[in-house]
Amino acid sequence: MKKEKSDSSRATIEKTLHELFENVRFSKLGFFVLIFLYIGSYVLVVLTSHSEAAIMLGGQPIPYRSITGVFSAIGNLCIVLLVVLYKKPGFLVSMCFLLVSFPSALTGIIKNGNYISIAGIFTNMLTLIAIYMIYSTNTKAEKAQARLRDQAVTDSLTGLPNRFASSELMGALAAKGEKFAVAVLNLKNFKGVNNTMGHSAGNAVLKEVAFRLKKAADSRQTNTHDFVASQGGDEFLLIIRDFRNNDEILETLEQYENVLKDRITVDGCDFFFSASIGWAVYPEDADTVDALLACTSTAMAEVKRGDSGSHILRYTPEIANIEHTLEIERKIRTALENDTLFFELQPQFDMKHQLSGFEALARMKDEDGNCIVPGEFIPVAEELGLIDQIDYVVFRKAAGFFGKLIRETNTKSVLSVNVSVRHLMRNGFLDELREVLKSTGMPPEQLEVEITESIMIDSVDKALDCINEIKKLGIKIAIDDFGTGYSSLSYLNDFPADMLKVDKSFIDRMNTNDSSKQYVAAIISIGHVMNFTVISEGVEQPDQLDTLRNIGCDYIQGFIWGRPMAPDDAENLVKSAMKSA
Ligand code: C2E
Ligand code: MG
Ligand code: MG
Repeated sequence: MKKEKSDSSRATIEKTLHELFENVRFSKLGFFVLIFLYIGSYVLVVLTSHSEAAIMLGGQPIPYRSITGVFSAIGNLCIVLLVVLYKKPGFLVSMCFLLVSFPSALTGIIKNGNYISIAGIFTNMLTLIAIYMIYSTNTKAEKAQARLRDQAVTDSLTGLPNRFASSELMGALAAKGEKFAVAVLNLKNFKGVNNTMGHSAGNAVLKEVAFRLKKAADSRQTNTHDFVASQGGDEFLLIIRDFRNNDEILETLEQYENVLKDRITVDGCDFFFSASIGWAVYPEDADTVDALLACTSTAMAEVKRGDSGSHILRYTPEIANIEHTLEIERKIRTALENDTLFFELQPQFDMKHQLSGFEALARMKDEDGNCIVPGEFIPVAEELGLIDQIDYVVFRKAAGFFGKLIRETNTKSVLSVNVSVRHLMRNGFLDELREVLKSTGMPPEQLEVEITESIMIDSVDKALDCINEIKKLGIKIAIDDFGTGYSSLSYLNDFPADMLKVDKSFIDRMNTNDSSKQYVAAIISIGHVMNFTVISEGVEQPDQLDTLRNIGCDYIQGFIWGRPMAPDDAENLVKSAMKSA
């Protein structure tokens, strides 16, 4: 029973791989129809060629013999179609037909003096040559195609099915709705072999590993039905089918792990390997093949980090979070090390659309040039204590640029920079501010520091001293994302800020109902009572602008009048604003 199942599993795999390149199959019925048509036309050729009768057409007698050629042509067409569509069987049948017709035609000529058959013999010979040529050309093309097919689905080093073949198989299983597990298996310490013994030793190791994995799969050591593929390099893929539960998958994976534990000897040197295995189940963990593979890689990366204490790990969303955070952390550290963090400037305007200033926003790209949004890297940087460095880089670069712009254009625009609460509370923060002001020549009265509202909840007493010192330098203070932090009004009253920034979430909702609008109006009024100017963030729609004008907002920042832009574009904006003023 088990053997039967194993054979059917292998057959599915083979079939899937071969079907990738298989030509369209023609039906058996067509084969017999062509044979029947050929025999029919052959009989008619014989009958009409011997007949003396005629039919009357338009008053003219037309002898049956004169339409022999039509049936002969139909017969030849059937022969050609048999060879083209049905390859070897078609060729063999056609050969038989043609060869069989020779003796009867010869007999006709010799015995009966039926010289009309000479033309038939000549045609048959030509047809025979033609079908032989068609058949041999087709066969050569098919062989070349088969070679290509094998190359396309096979890893040239190990001889295992390759990445493409495994994705096609997974796609086929998913399309059938079959539940299956996928494990990615990576050899630990393989790089060491390549580095110390050279690539040919490395290749020998990979071939041996491939051999052992395939042997384990083929000899049905496991309870499941498995397919082994190479993913390139020291990575292998296992597709596991027909398991009853997750324990069975684990058992299977442990068996594959075990077959690698025995020593591998190459060039007289013994190597011992172990594997890191990450696995996931379709469709439980992911409902597309690509997502499933990403899950297995995530789980394997976690195994490799070694924190899980296991060699075999199933994907979970928690692992994905850890891996994502680690990836972002790595990118932040690289960007800080290479000094590739940069900034964009988003313009701020008064309600008459006059430029009033810019907010500097941190930007980061990874090594491949892909942008990572602040929403992703700022929280990670905050959690890891890297935010101080980001704030500092953005502040230094933006102040350097803006200080120069002020000196060149005499603009009165203000530069706002974001400072995290954590950064602000650090002892050296004030020294850092002074140092940047000095080195960049940025006038403090044109600088604004944005601090999120959370400062008034967690750390107001400690922060107040620092904020007062900042103010003494002549720098303005803005409370960012106001309204999101549930701070108490009494704190707000005591807070030495200059500007309230109403959070985008309130502006988004503002025009959906009257109470949301009244809420924003109330924030603006309270801000004014407490002597703050008020700016609304994230204004995108003209109707939001109208409402904000009606309820007395002072400034706006939003895509409606300006998205974050490169410093050069900000410079042009400043210059054109100054010209038109
Ligand atoms: P934020 O300080 O409140 O900055 C405003 C954010 O709103 C920016 O997002 C800006 O692009 C976005 N925004 C402005 N107007 C619109 C609009 O009309 N529609 C939409 N959809 N979005 C708008 P960004 O650049 O993604 O920054 C997100 C947050 O990351 C910032 O919010 C800030 O809290 C933080 N951040 C950015 N740069 C720094 C930095 O250098 N240091 C620190 N500590 N935090 C930063
Ligand atoms: Mg801000
Ligand atoms: Mg904000």
